[in-house]
Amino acid sequence: MKTALVTGASRGIGRAVARKLGKMGYYVVVNFNSKIDEAQITLDEIRTEGGDGEVLQFDVSNFENTKSTLEAWLASHPEHIVEVLVNNAGITRDLLMVQMEQEDWGKIINTNLNSFYNVTKPLLQGMVRKRYGRIINIVSLAGVKGNPGQVNYAAAKAGIIGATKSLGLELAKRNITVNAVAPGFIATDMTAELPEAELKGMIPMNRFGKPEEVAAVVGFLASPEASYITAEVINVNGGIYS
Ligand code: NDP
Repeated sequence: MKTALVTGASRGIGRAVARKLGKMGYYVVVNFNSKIDEAQITLDEIRTEGGDGEVLQFDVSNFENTKSTLEAWLASHPEHIVEVLVNNAGITRDLLMVQMEQEDWGKIINTNLNSFYNVTKPLLQGMVRKRYGRIINIVSLAGVKGNPGQVNYAAAKAGIIGATKSLGLELAKRNITVNAVAPGFIATDMTAELPEAELKGMIPMNRFGKPEEVAAVVGFLASPEASYITAEVINVNGGIYS
């Protein structure tokens, strides 16, 4: 059974991506950390739209927890082939560097950067064996351009961009593509506190994006049609920066 894993699929961009992949015919593993009810809503929406999947809890920032959960899942689901991995889970802890404590740095690096290793590593072997795979990492405008108040977050996202390019080159001959999608301002819980009316003035399209507008690009990169695109970063930001 062709399967896609989306981390942080209980809300926001991850939910929209999970729904998109469900509509594309993938069995979707809806990962979440703390909000099981929200993850269940994502799964219900996938089923309403004619797809199927399941929810799976693990903390992407925790190496042991992620490894043991994914290995147990793979062992108990031998009929599933994980073709698509979307590393989407992420958090922010915005503050100026002068005020940043080690914990503010470490938490963001663990959740947004180390998670890439934690989740991707257990799934890579299967893709290499099948000689097919699509890995899509959700990065950020901040990781491409930099952003004051987000030194920790931008460092993690820029790190993922480097990892995307390098892993893409490592796997290019094996029919596995690795790409990143860099959203600008997208209307989700993460940006709910931001003053949209003020900020939209600096966005050429004069509005925040919708999660579905990011999911559309992820869906394309996940599809067989995107077979000649790898190690690439695609901006989805209403023209704010490229
Ligand atoms: P939300 O805050 O709406 O959702 C975050 C998701 O990540 C939730 O599903 C949450 O799970 C999950 N998550 C957080 N920590 C963990 C963890 N340790 N383990 C597993 N899952 C976790 O965020 P967005 O949808 O806005 O963001 C999604 C991605 O897009 C992130 O990587 C973010 O950095 C990136 N992005 C977002 C932008 C925006 O404007 N919104 C702009 C640029 C990039 P739970 O519900 O269980 O807590």
